Amino acid sequence: MTGKENAQRMEKIVSLCKRRGFIFQSSEIYGGLNGVWDYGPLGTELKNNLKQYWWQVTVRDRDDVVGLDGAILTHPTVLKASGHVDTFTDPMVDCRTCKARLRADQLAEKNGVKQCPNCGGKDLTEARPFNLMFQTQMGASADPASIAYLRPETAQSIFVQFKNVLDVSRKKLPFGIAQIGKAFRNEINPRNFTFRSREFEQMELEYFCRPEQGMDLLAYWLKERIKFYEEIGISRKRLHILDVPEKERAFYSKGTFDIEYEFPFGRQELEGVAYRTDYDLQQHIKASGKQLDYFDEESKERLVPHVVEPSAGVDRTVLALICDAYDEDTAPDEKGKLETRIVMRFHPRMAPIKCAIFPLLRNKEPLVAKAREVQALLRPHMNVFYDEGGAIGRRYRRQDEIGTPFGVTIDFETLGEKGEELRDTVTLRDRDSMKQERVAIKDLPHLISSKIR
Ligand code: ATP
Repeated sequence: MTGKENAQRMEKIVSLCKRRGFIFQSSEIYGGLNGVWDYGPLGTELKNNLKQYWWQVTVRDRDDVVGLDGAILTHPTVLKASGHVDTFTDPMVDCRTCKARLRADQLAEKNGVKQCPNCGGKDLTEARPFNLMFQTQMGASADPASIAYLRPETAQSIFVQFKNVLDVSRKKLPFGIAQIGKAFRNEINPRNFTFRSREFEQMELEYFCRPEQGMDLLAYWLKERIKFYEEIGISRKRLHILDVPEKERAFYSKGTFDIEYEFPFGRQELEGVAYRTDYDLQQHIKASGKQLDYFDEESKERLVPHVVEPSAGVDRTVLALICDAYDEDTAPDEKGKLETRIVMRFHPRMAPIKCAIFPLLRNKEPLVAKAREVQALLRPHMNVFYDEGGAIGRRYRRQDEIGTPFGVTIDFETLGEKGEELRDTVTLRDRDSMKQERVAIKDLPHLISSKIR
């Protein structure tokens, strides 16, 4: 695809997200809040499906990982100890012509001269560090002692609570603590739709181990995380693994891989998988004076565990799911003429709505009653959507556009009007092949459930 085609594709995706209720600009009626987004009805379902699946495979399916739900407001000393207060910065420059604030490492360049990407101006200030953390005030007094931060990552509460979690869960090394939650960064240039936001969610795992296990576990978690993206339907060919060179890694990291995805706006990071050694726990031991260590029953030694951290972005993964799913093909309209069909090819596991239910005609009471019965039958198993409005082809098209993998139509055969043998059967339509098969209503929960788990 050319750059122009990619830009057009991204425009179509952004417009579909708004039109169908996946993602809205936050505070839109007041002109929008830059870098902040609200998820609409379908976006919320998609995001929840992603988070639930991550939680399922990372925590519930394993004996060696437990969960945590830490607070967003963070004690300044935590972030001083972790290094965020002093070094969580991006280099910033100002354009003196149009007054834009820009990230120094994202400037446009023409004939070797740095330029403002907004106005083309070359009169730029020197780069200076800009701390990305949001600071707030706790309580009524406004003195420096009342400063608190909105956490810039979820990980720090895991390190700070390491001892408490260890004591209550009585896990043996290696074991992990997982968390899904909001994080905040005052990004200088939020851009590329939700990709770089100021408020976002992370899914992070801190997997604690003995020092000699670190490098093997780094390789293990990289493999697991790639498998995860494949399981949620992201094409392997659009995923890339970047082995971050030593000079670009955090100084304490012995190995870091970035998992990148080919977005229409370029190849960008989805997740970082990093072997962080014992840096974070040691920092908190120094700053708090508390013993954040582990007692090995067998060797009778105390040690500060090392940690491997797979850190994924919820919003970036949602965006990758949407970009990966977006497709256009052709399908016959009501009169059999081929028209362009927009179809979101979400993996059924991730699709916001799993099955749409259509009575063939809205004004035939027995069809409607039967369709409502099917809805009640499927509802405890999955998110379903009932739609009786418009021609059946149009109803299919509306569901294709939001990626609903299955459609069930209740017709006169269902009522037994075309032969007793077809009574209580429906057509089950597959979104991708558009093929329809006749199945018994009683088989629907099992048939569909087996494909969405
Ligand atoms: P980048 O280099 O793109 O700013 P990062 O390397 O600073 O990202 P990490 O600190 O490793 O990111 O955070 C882990 C994950 O959190 C990222 O891989 C990404 O998925 C997510 N994330 C980080 N910053 C943002 C943001 N501003 N908006 C959305 N997601 C983010």
